[in-house]
Formats: sequence, structure tokens, C-alpha cells
Amino acid sequence: MTDCVFCKIVAGQIPSIRVHEDEHTLAFMDIGQVNPGHVLVTVKKHAENLYALDDAQAAAVARTSASLARAIREAFKPEGLSVYQANGKAAGQTVFHYHVHLLPRHAGDGMELTWPVKNPPREKLEGYAGKIRAGLAKAVA
Ligand code: AMP
Ligand code: ZN
Repeated sequence: MTDCVFCKIVAGQIPSIRVHEDEHTLAFMDIGQVNPGHVLVTVKKHAENLYALDDAQAAAVARTSASLARAIREAFKPEGLSVYQANGKAAGQTVFHYHVHLLPRHAGDGMELTWPVKNPPREKLEGYAGKIRAGLAKAVA
């Protein structure tokens, strides 16, 4: 996509600090560095979000993320690592080219994600699961 900042990074039209590249993925340093070692794993071929990935891209992102997570652990010895990935504006996505954040974490680092649990009754959960199974059947059909 001509107007996509991450497509431009993949094409080398704007600078990035790269840490890994393979057939389907490119990983580079997030310019914002929420904590030192914050990396983005992205796909080389433009896909807006998780919904748009093909199977080869999805598998490659998982492989690259796991291997870079271990590399970040080795390099920065963080107390934890968050994997963050947003789809759509309401979810916090700001760059509309699929990417995964690998974010080293430390106690009290100020990174907050509130988790407003609802603890619904079992019948509600069964209903939600049924809807997802129906969606799955449609999506693969
Ligand atoms: P998200 O809000 O999940 O879409 O994340 C977008 C991320 O892209 C942010 O963490 C930005 O700091 C990062 N970002 C935006 N432009 C660049 C760039 N040119 N190089 C590296 N990271 C970038
Ligand atoms: Zn793109």
C-alpha cells in the first residue's frame, strides 16, 4: 500500500532499526520504546489486521515472535514480557498494517491494561461459545 508507513519500512523507503527478517516477517525497534527492547513484528505483505492474515503469515508471525521473545529475554533480562496486538481503532490500533508488540516488562513500569471482568453465569458463556463455533463454521466454509 502506497500510503502505509510499515509498507514503506518494509520497502526501505523510510528508516527502521531491524532485528530480524525472513520470507514473511520483518521485526524492527518500535520508535516509542515503552520499555527498552520493545520490538514490533510485522508482515512484509500488507495486511491491515489479524483478520486479513493468510495461514503462512500467521504461522511466520508466531515463529518470529517466539524466537524474538527468547532473544529479548536473553538481552534485557526483563521480569516479564507482554505480547500486545490491536485490531481496529476501538482496540487501540494506530498503524493499520498488522503488527505484534513484544514488550519487556518490569514491576511498576507504568504500563496499564485494565481488565474489567464480568464473570457471567455458565449459561451466558455457553451462549457466547455457541456463537463463536457458528462463526468458525462460516469462516472456514
Ligand atoms: P499500535 O498502536 O498497536 O498500532 O502501534 C503502533 C506502533 O508503531 C506504536 O508503538 C509506534 O511507536 C510505532 N511506530 C509508528 N511509526 C513507527 C516507525 N516509523 N518506526 C518504528 N515504530 C513506529
Ligand atoms: Zn502496509
